[in-house]
Amino acid sequence: MPLLVMKFGGTSVADLSRIANAAKKVQAEVARGYDVIVIVSAMSGETNKMVGYVEGTSKLYDAREYDAVVSSGENVTAGLMALRLQEMDIPARSWQGWQVPINTTSAHGSARFIDIPRANIDAKFAEGFKVAVVAGFQGLSAEGRITTLGRGGSDTTAVAFAAAFGAERCDIYTDVDGVYTTDPRIASKARKLDRIAFEEMLELASLGAKVLQTRSVELAMRYKVRLRVLSSFEDTDENSGTLVCDEDEIMESKVVSGVAYSRDEAKMTLVTVEDRPGVASAIFGPLADAGVNVDMIVQNISEKNYGTHTGAVTDMTFSVPVNQVARAQKAMEEARAAGIIMYDELISDTDVAKVSVVGIGMRSQVGVAARMFKALAAENINIKVIATSEIKISVLIDRKYMELAVQALHDCFELDKA
Ligand code: ASP
Ligand code: MG
Repeated sequence: MPLLVMKFGGTSVADLSRIANAAKKVQAEVARGYDVIVIVSAMSGETNKMVGYVEGTSKLYDAREYDAVVSSGENVTAGLMALRLQEMDIPARSWQGWQVPINTTSAHGSARFIDIPRANIDAKFAEGFKVAVVAGFQGLSAEGRITTLGRGGSDTTAVAFAAAFGAERCDIYTDVDGVYTTDPRIASKARKLDRIAFEEMLELASLGAKVLQTRSVELAMRYKVRLRVLSSFEDTDENSGTLVCDEDEIMESKVVSGVAYSRDEAKMTLVTVEDRPGVASAIFGPLADAGVNVDMIVQNISEKNYGTHTGAVTDMTFSVPVNQVARAQKAMEEARAAGIIMYDELISDTDVAKVSVVGIGMRSQVGVAARMFKALAAENINIKVIATSEIKISVLIDRKYMELAVQALHDCFELDKA
């Protein structure tokens, strides 16, 4: 029997009528001849509510009990979905993580998969069951405790099952109808993509496009699981949504596939750091120890020279999420006080945003950066920091120009046209 994984997110199972609607989509695939593994999230809002219960009970909570509580939302939807399918005469049953079992590490709250043995579920399919409804987001540690995978983890559960069971495809049903060239709330000309390569999706996902948990895309890329993102609120068929797939499956890709943004960035510059071997590690070591997520890094010849260093001096600029600026400042001041680094000034600019263009076509095309910079210049947008990778170019700009920059780049690379 060909097998399909279908995942329904929180808004898609938010109440009984939505569960019934999702069940109809499962029914349609069963009618097409598939065995189906359904992965469900908790009803929307439930996980947040339970996180609140835990935090309201214990400040320094035991992570094992946190997982015991917050994993429970998925158990409810799994049982309800199985009941709904049974009402429609479809042989189905629910599976909690420990029943499969979904074996994970013991890192409570951010557990990782170890393996998903197929035997138990396969045996039920062999008995004539058509659907296995599995609670997403949860697993079982070697110590026999319930674990969770981190927020948004049901996407990753779905991909892991698709890989373990050799599914033909993993369909992620959600409240949007696919992956767009950019955020339609910012650029009204944003267009839904029919296909996007794993690597592009990974860049877009980690750059702030919230459709899929980043880990799920990493896993899909590693195991070549074809992922489809589609709406649970619309009539859908085998061509609906966006297929996230290997680049070999994409006939011809444009240079740029999407424009991503991240609004709340900050740019920090250490002015006149002595330029010697080991200085970068002396800066980024303490930042990492303080849990600061550094993104872009630029080192250049210092603009000023205060004469406080005898040798050469350099400026070190890096970007961090705006809510980590205070933590980064503290780490730098402490490192300076401890004599680990020397610098004259730390300048923080907390009004910046990051805008990026992403596309696998960039690998074989020259002049993409030039085109991007020209489009920004035409709008009089000043670029503060630039970073590039093989398939991405990112710039830091003043936050007030973020929307304008996204629109200008969307136009410049003609992303509204297929
Ligand atoms: N219910 C969990 C969450 O809200 C997992 C998920 O929905 O993916 O994060
Ligand atoms: Mg989600």
